[in-house]
Amino acid sequence: MPKSQTENVINVAFIGNPNCGKTSLFNAYTGAKLKVANWPGVTVEKKEGHTQYHNHDYKLVDLPGIYALTSYTMEETLSREYILGEEVDVIVDVADASSLERNLYLTLQLIELGKPVVLALNMMDIVEERGMEIDLHRLPEMLGIPVIPVSARKKTGLNILMHAVAHHKDKPIDKTEHHHSEGQHIHKHHDEFVLVYSDEIEDKIDAVKIKLKESYPDMKNKRWHAIKMLAEDEEICGKYPLDLSDIIDRSYESDIIAQKYDFIEEVMEECMVNRTEKSEKTDRIDAVLTHRIWGVPVFLGIMAFVFFLTFMVGDWLKGFLETGLDWVYEETAHFLIWCKASDWVVSLVVDGALAGVGGILSFLPNIFILFLALAVLEDSGYMSRVAYVMNHIMGKLGLSGRAFIPMLLGFGCSVPAVMASRTLENPKDRLRTILVTPFMSCSAKLPVYVLLSGMFFGKYAMFAAFSMYVIGMMTAVAASLVLSRIMKAERVNNLLIELPEYKAPNARSIWIYVWEKIKDYITKAGTTIFIASVAVWLLMNFGPHGMAADMTDSFGAHLGKLLVPVMKPTGLGYWQIVLALLSGIAAKEVVVSSLSVLYGITNVSWAVGMSSLAAMLGAQGFTGINAYAMMLFCLLYVPCIATIAMIRQETGSKKWPVVSVCIQLGTAWIVTTLFYQIARLF
Ligand code: GDP
Ligand code: MG
Repeated sequence: MPKSQTENVINVAFIGNPNCGKTSLFNAYTGAKLKVANWPGVTVEKKEGHTQYHNHDYKLVDLPGIYALTSYTMEETLSREYILGEEVDVIVDVADASSLERNLYLTLQLIELGKPVVLALNMMDIVEERGMEIDLHRLPEMLGIPVIPVSARKKTGLNILMHAVAHHKDKPIDKTEHHHSEGQHIHKHHDEFVLVYSDEIEDKIDAVKIKLKESYPDMKNKRWHAIKMLAEDEEICGKYPLDLSDIIDRSYESDIIAQKYDFIEEVMEECMVNRTEKSEKTDRIDAVLTHRIWGVPVFLGIMAFVFFLTFMVGDWLKGFLETGLDWVYEETAHFLIWCKASDWVVSLVVDGALAGVGGILSFLPNIFILFLALAVLEDSGYMSRVAYVMNHIMGKLGLSGRAFIPMLLGFGCSVPAVMASRTLENPKDRLRTILVTPFMSCSAKLPVYVLLSGMFFGKYAMFAAFSMYVIGMMTAVAASLVLSRIMKAERVNNLLIELPEYKAPNARSIWIYVWEKIKDYITKAGTTIFIASVAVWLLMNFGPHGMAADMTDSFGAHLGKLLVPVMKPTGLGYWQIVLALLSGIAAKEVVVSSLSVLYGITNVSWAVGMSSLAAMLGAQGFTGINAYAMMLFCLLYVPCIATIAMIRQETGSKKWPVVSVCIQLGTAWIVTTLFYQIARLF
C-alpha cells in the first residue's frame, strides 16, 4: 500500500494462540460483532476493523489463532503470510495470561521476526480472580517488548494498549542489522537479542545471515529467515534458494524448539509469582463431563435437554407469535378485498407468500431457543469437550477427532461448518469432513421435525425429533469411515485437542451469536423462502392449459408425478411431498413452507393448522411411518444451495459439490427405503 494513503493509519495485526481472546479484543475496539466462542478454530478468515485513539487511526486485523509460525494448516499459512507482509506496522500478540507458558512460544517467534511487537496479556480478570500474580516489571524486561495487561471482557487496559502500539511502532527490535559488522566477535548476542541460542546454533545463524546478505541484500529480518532455514522450513527454503550444505548438515528444528522452551521456563520462573495453571473447578467438572465412559451419554443427555427446551419453551413462546401473525393474515386479506383485488392476487399473497413466509417465521421461537442453548454450550467451553470425548471414539475408528469440531458446528448451520474444516491439516481429512458435515442435523431442518413429529407422534414428538440428531451424527461418522476407506486416507495421527477453561458464558457474546442467527433466519424467510413460496404457488396454479382450476393438472403436479415412482419405495411417493422435497433444495425450511402452500394452510405450525394438514395427509394414506421416513429423508438428502456453494468455494472445484449431492441423495434413498420397508412389516 502506498505510504501516502496510510500516513496516519497504524496497521495493527492481532495474533495469538487459538482461544486467547483475539476476537473478543477486536470486537471491544471496533464494536464489531464477530463470533466469539470458547473453543479453538472459530475464526478462520482475517477480519478488518478500525478504531481511534488520540489523533491516531488504527486499522485492526483479527487473524485465525495459531500456535507457531509454521504453515501446516490453511489458517497458519494465512496468518503467517499476513504477519510477514509489509502492511503490518505493529504486531499485537494476544496471550491468555492465565496460561502464559503455552502462549509464550508464539511470542518468542514473533519477537524473532524483528517487527515491533506488543504483548497484550489478556484475561487479566481471570488471573486476578485466581490469585495468580505476574511480575509486570520483569516480564517486559526479559522479553524486550512492552507488556500491557488487558481484559477484553471487562474492557480494561484498552487505551493503554493502543497507546503502547503508537509508541512502539517505529522501534524494531532487530537493531543488529545496522551495526553488526563481520569482523565483530560473533558471540555478543546477549545485548542484542532476547533469546540467544547455543553457540553452535548462533554461529550457524550468523553464517547463514552472511550468505543471505550476499544473495538477498534487500531481505528484512534476516535472523528469522536464517533460523527458519536451520529448521529446514520448506516454504522459506523454497522461496529463497541458497546452497547451505557447508553450514547446515541436519535439521536444527528440534534444538531450536527445545531452547525456546528452556527460555520460556526461565521467564516463568522469574515472572510468575503464584503458578496455578488451571482452575480446580475445571478439573472437577471435567472429571464427569469428559469421563471415558460417561462422556458420551452425558453429551447425549445434554443434547436431549437442549431439545426439551427447544420444544417445550419454544412452543410456549410460539403462543404469543400466533396471535400476532393471525392478525396479519386477516388484515392483509381484508385489505386486499377492500382494494377489490382479483381473487388470484389474494390467493398469491395470502396462500402463497404469507402462508410460506409466515409458516417459517412461526418457528422462530424454537430456532431462538436452539441457538441460545448452542451459544451457551459453546461459550462455556463444553463444545470442545464434546470434540475431545468424540476424539477418543473417532480415534478408535481410525478417524481424526479434529473433524468433529466442524461437524458439531453443523448442528447450527452447514455453511460455517464446511468453512471450519480449514482447521484440518491433511487435505484428505479436510475433504472428507466437508463431505460428511451436511449429514448433521442443521437448524433449518428443525421446522420439518417440529411439524411432522408434532402432527404424527403426539407426546413422543420430542423423541422422534431427537432421534434425527443422533441418526445424523451416526450417519456422518459412518460415511466418514467409508470415505476414508475409499480415499485411502493415511492413518491419522490423533491430534491433541486443547481444552479451554470453563467460563461463565458472556451475555454479550451470546447475544451476538443468537442475534446473528435470528437475523439470518428472518432474512432467509424474507428472501429465499418468499421466492420459493411464490414459485411453488405458481407451479400449483398454472398448468399446460393456463391457470389450472384443478391442482392435479398443474405444472407442479406433473413435475411431482414424474418422480413419484422413484420415491415410492421410500414411502414418499406422493407428488405433493416430492414437490416439497424438491423445493427444499433451496433451503430446508422451504419443505415446510411448501407444504403449507401445497395444502393451502396458512397457520401450519399451530394446533389448528397441524390437525388440518394431518387430516389431509391421512386421507392420502400418509401415516406416522411415512412421516418418520420423510424426516429421515429431509435429514439426509442434499445440502442446501448455500452449502453447495460453500463446498464449491472451499474445495475449489465443481466436482466435489456434485459428488456431495450424489452421496447424500444415495444415502438418503437407501436409508429411508430400508426404514420404510422394514417398518411396514410390523
Ligand atoms: P479467539 O479464538 O482468540 O478469537 O478467542 P475469542 O475472542 O473467541 O474468545 C475465547 C473465549 O474467551 C470466549 O469464551 C470469550 O468470551 C473468552 N474471553 C475473551 N477475552 C476474555 C477476557 O478478557 N476475560 C475472560 N474472562 N474471558 C475472555
Ligand atoms: Mg477468533
